[in-house]
Amino acid sequence: MGIQTLEELLLHLPTRYDDRRTCAPLTEAIANTPFTYMGRIMSARSSRWRGGRAVFEIVLAPAGSDSMPSREQLLTCRWYNMFGLNKALTVGKELFLYGKVTKGKTGWSMTHPDFEIAEAEAPASAEVSVHAPDTTSHAPSRPRVHTGRIVPVYPLTEGLTQRLLRQLMYRVVQEYGPRVPEIYEAPEVLPRLAQAIPAVHFPDSWNQRDTARQRLAYDEFFAQQMVLARRRAKRLRVEKPRPPALQEDHPAYRLARRWLATLPFRPTGAQERVMTELDQDMQAGVAMNRLLQGDVGSGKTLVAAYAMLQAVAHGFQAVLMAPTEILAEQHYLNISRWMAPLGIPVGLHTGSRKLLPGNDIATPELALGATPDHQLPPPAESFTAIAEHVGSIVIGTHALVYERFVADRLGLVVIDEQHKFGVLQRAALTRKGDNPDVLVMTATPIPRTLRLTAYGDLDVSILDELPPGRTPIATAVRRPDDLDRMWEFARAQLAAGRQMYVVCPLVEESEKIEARAAEKELEHVKGRLPGVSVGLLHGRMAPADKDAIMASFRTARTQVLVSTSVIEVGVDVPNATLMVVVNAERFGLAQLHQLRGRIGRGALKSYCVLVSEPGSEEGWRRLKVMEETADGFRIAEEDLRLRGPGNIFGTEQSGLPKPRFGNPVTDLPLLQQARKHAAQVIAADPDLEKHPQLAQLVNRMVLAGGGVDGG
Ligand code: ADP
Ligand code: MG
Repeated sequence: MGIQTLEELLLHLPTRYDDRRTCAPLTEAIANTPFTYMGRIMSARSSRWRGGRAVFEIVLAPAGSDSMPSREQLLTCRWYNMFGLNKALTVGKELFLYGKVTKGKTGWSMTHPDFEIAEAEAPASAEVSVHAPDTTSHAPSRPRVHTGRIVPVYPLTEGLTQRLLRQLMYRVVQEYGPRVPEIYEAPEVLPRLAQAIPAVHFPDSWNQRDTARQRLAYDEFFAQQMVLARRRAKRLRVEKPRPPALQEDHPAYRLARRWLATLPFRPTGAQERVMTELDQDMQAGVAMNRLLQGDVGSGKTLVAAYAMLQAVAHGFQAVLMAPTEILAEQHYLNISRWMAPLGIPVGLHTGSRKLLPGNDIATPELALGATPDHQLPPPAESFTAIAEHVGSIVIGTHALVYERFVADRLGLVVIDEQHKFGVLQRAALTRKGDNPDVLVMTATPIPRTLRLTAYGDLDVSILDELPPGRTPIATAVRRPDDLDRMWEFARAQLAAGRQMYVVCPLVEESEKIEARAAEKELEHVKGRLPGVSVGLLHGRMAPADKDAIMASFRTARTQVLVSTSVIEVGVDVPNATLMVVVNAERFGLAQLHQLRGRIGRGALKSYCVLVSEPGSEEGWRRLKVMEETADGFRIAEEDLRLRGPGNIFGTEQSGLPKPRFGNPVTDLPLLQQARKHAAQVIAADPDLEKHPQLAQLVNRMVLAGGGVDGG
């Protein structure tokens, strides 16, 4: 089972427990359900059945009843091919039994029950109510392991029986549990490990089990928070090796502000606030490490462009990594358009395309026939005259992580839709510079608990305001056979110049099947929308074809885009105001929210139709949440509730192993306490020189999470 050490064995916890404390008379038994019984052996016999199976059978009467029991009160227990039982289970002995009872012609019986000989003892705890006589007059006490108590049920492996492992665990826990040392001062309200370990395996009460588990959870949270606190402390100790840090009185700073003034819209209050936060971080002597969280459409790109402009104007390189080629190209178009009049070189680096910064920056846009969406600023005060050395901007996909991309005075790393990347990719890109500023962005609202765990070492900025003029998206859940009116409406909207997405079902197993499903859907849509230009986009298409179709959609030559969920992140075509999601039930709510975020990006009224068979009540209700709210936070919480936390505490995000004992959602107070505690320890002893054992614990946690301790 991968258990190598005593410690690992002691932490091999039960997956569940059976409450076998209460023994009841057979009159309370329910056929085919587990039952705990205590009785005295009236008769025992071994026999051999036809076919050679050996049967050992005993009949028990309620312990302590002197009167002659009726048949209804007798329990027959049978074991097949179990040799040696006849020596242990002899007439007159009292037994605890646990197993499923069945009722047949000959009365109640159990097959292969768990049993324990009641060689008498006081009940395991005061809560035990044994339907039995005083057993203290018997031989010296032997503890109950399998019956008459709360019994642990362990994960097993082939060849290892529950009974054997439980017996073994009992001995190990009795022997070594009380000797487990404390390596740090856990809060006093929690039990010591020497008590917690035995109690979590063989609790006397549920309450005892709960506090024992809390202790293990606290240890785990504490180690995790130590990793984060140490990471943060390390980061804050390293000065940015690149003077001058961004200076507010630097002309480039004013330039960035002036650039903002040229945009066709004013930044929202939230964007302003976040840009100020970024200025402060970037001017500081230590590297920025900030998470920018903002719902879909809140305008994160603008904020990122502002930060990149700051870095570049001060002579550094800024890179932006996006999760898909489509999104990288889109950012490239927007940002090079924004930067062109300033003379700032912008490059593109994806798996299929590498454009060096400075290569005809205006061409991509012209080639694609897009019209600039704002007036270019006058080239007064030529930019190059201001900055001594202008850096460059490079936009790309995870291809940026590989060797072929060589950074040049990398000062800022921006990661868009960061939940699509792993901690390793993030770290690899960051390492290409000398301690660069890092800005990670996400549209997936991160519940508070996650912010304390997976993202515990980041500062957080929140864009909690959508740009003005957005009209809410009308969302409806529809059955597949109820779409006639929807298509009619779509035809009218398209005729009025609007555009539309049709999103095909998610097929987890294979991109190939997904592509085929999309092709099928394309035919269907064409049939529904005669005379309309319909295009197809999926992950398996050649990059050039993807570019062509996106360009065509952006410029409205293609009116309807049938697509797989590759458009989930980032795609921004404000004229697209209609979206149909086929088989919507296959998507998570958060993902549907992301998808829906592709529309409603301008002042035009947008409509989203989620198509689904009614299926289960639960599934339908889930989709109805999308009709009710556009609040990403509420949707994320709902998703968290429906999917459970298991899915989102991935190691890839944090470089920390998944919690085994604690649940950050339900154990939030413990987590917060552990976080405070860890911060105190690290503040007093940043390298854990005075806490060698703790240092060991923390290093082990880093290793378990994949060995990255960079962030
Ligand atoms: P997201 O946060 O989802 O990445 P984007 O950065 O793609 O959002 O912005 C969504 C749309 O809103 C874009 O078309 C962008 O140009 C526009 N936008 C951004 N900021 C503002 C603003 N302050 N006022 C009006 N429109 C804005
Ligand atoms: Mg975006």
